[in-house]
Amino acid sequence: MAGQTFKGAPSDTRQIQQWDRQHLWHPFTQHKLWNQSDPLVIVAGQGDMLVDADDRKYIDGVASIWCNVHGHNHPHINQAIADQLGRIAHCTLLGLTTPNAVELARRLVELTPDGLAKVFFSDDGSTAVEVACKMAFAYWHHRSQPQRRAFVAVHEAYHGDTIGAVSVGGIEIFHKLFRPLLFETHRAPAPYCYRCPLGRRPDECDLACADKLGELLARHRGQIAAVVVEPLIQCAAGMIVHPKGYLHRVRRLCDEHDVLLIADEVATGFGRTGTMFACEQEDAIPDLMCLSKGLTGGYLPLAATLTTDRIYNAFLGDMDEQKTFYHGHTYTGNALGCAAALANIELFEREQTLAQLPAKIDCMRRHLAKIAEHDNVGDVRQCGLVAGIELVADGASRKLFAYGQQVGAKVCMHARRYGVIIRPLADVIVLFPPLSISMEHLERLMSVTTRCIDEVLADLPAGRADGYEG
Ligand code: PLP
Repeated sequence: MAGQTFKGAPSDTRQIQQWDRQHLWHPFTQHKLWNQSDPLVIVAGQGDMLVDADDRKYIDGVASIWCNVHGHNHPHINQAIADQLGRIAHCTLLGLTTPNAVELARRLVELTPDGLAKVFFSDDGSTAVEVACKMAFAYWHHRSQPQRRAFVAVHEAYHGDTIGAVSVGGIEIFHKLFRPLLFETHRAPAPYCYRCPLGRRPDECDLACADKLGELLARHRGQIAAVVVEPLIQCAAGMIVHPKGYLHRVRRLCDEHDVLLIADEVATGFGRTGTMFACEQEDAIPDLMCLSKGLTGGYLPLAATLTTDRIYNAFLGDMDEQKTFYHGHTYTGNALGCAAALANIELFEREQTLAQLPAKIDCMRRHLAKIAEHDNVGDVRQCGLVAGIELVADGASRKLFAYGQQVGAKVCMHARRYGVIIRPLADVIVLFPPLSISMEHLERLMSVTTRCIDEVLADLPAGRADGYEG
């Protein structure tokens, strides 16, 4: 079938699987394992479902890695992209402008918290963060404070995989190898209550982790460009939900120390936490906000970094002052991506997406309460329509399973038998469905997850003894 389209015959599927092993390098994938199995071939999507080459249907329980909002193959977004395609697919924003890039910038300024006034487009979550870090760094340079060049982030942070985004990241297993390539970043303790790095309890700590952040800012006073945070929930770290008030305190600390705040809303933006943006819930207006993933409803790669007039104005000057922001990507403000993003935003109103969320969030909460009773479930965490279920070898001691046991992966693979696609982060089972998921499918997603945890853990007698201290 070289050069032909995929027709769906079993021999075509086998060919795709074979060529996959031969030619494709998948993200975050150990190919020694991958190449021993036949990958699931997805050929279509409809609403909250994915369809495989044998026409089997699966609930997309991870929203195609945390980006799908209104479902796959949505007629309104499809139409917007098709209409745009009939005009032009892409035109550079270098020296030119386009109506839908301008319109999208306007809509984003309207939607995001007051004070964010300018929009810089890029391609994905990582580049949105790179842009924010470079803007923060250059801002202080242009303000004649070039010594403010370091960043502060939290342990277990994840902001993407380019070198700047990795510099402000803090997930050891992903990032430690690249440390020699990274710029200076100080790390505050992660607000991870289940495994508090300070050994405190949430009912008595009074946000001691935020105090540590304050100490860090005081120790490096005058040297920090910006604090970077994932507001409310650190997704890639295993859906670590921050204690209430943490983000608000971070904003206050940034003000006290005259440091910029970068809110990475790449995963949380566009309704995921129950409000359009997570920052709204703690009344914390960032100086820079990074958006991607849900920006196009999960259709096309597009990102935006929003900032204030104060920061934007610091870059204004005569050419020979060299304050121009020398940064840009070929596909900056891509016309198809902007069309998808505008349609995505329209759908929030048309389909009353946010108004429908509380019932879904409640449904998730009810099921999670039951799941939490399982002996091998150490913690369940929820923020809006996201959940992380942390599996442990021993509930009382919070011992983890040995890494090589891949218990989380086994639970998720098992779920495929019941028509559900989910993906773990180590042994945290992640549930992150499209916001448009129907109640019926949400109930099924939750009950299949419960069942798979029961069945896989029951089949793992040796695993329980094989833990280590977390
Ligand atoms: N920031 C956050 C909070 C993320 O969760 C992610 C991806 O998961 C990124 C940035 C990176 O986005 P991308 O994979 O589009 O580069």
